[in-house]
Amino acid sequence: MENKTEKCVLCEAETGVEVNTPWFLRKHYIENSGQLCDECYHEIAKNKPWHDLA
Ligand SMILES: [Zn+2]
Repeated sequence: MENKTEKCVLCEAETGVEVNTPWFLRKHYIENSGQLCDECYHEIAKNKPWHDLA
């Protein structure tokens, strides 16, 4: 069976993170928001506090 991967919640870029990966093993995962790509994560991390995310 083919594993699906998460897309970035902001730009829909492929993150390469398999959907069944537990959150604590993921990179760039934000609780209550979802999976971000590397780019968006760093963009947000430097511009916004986490609680500003929808
Ligand atoms: Zn993104």
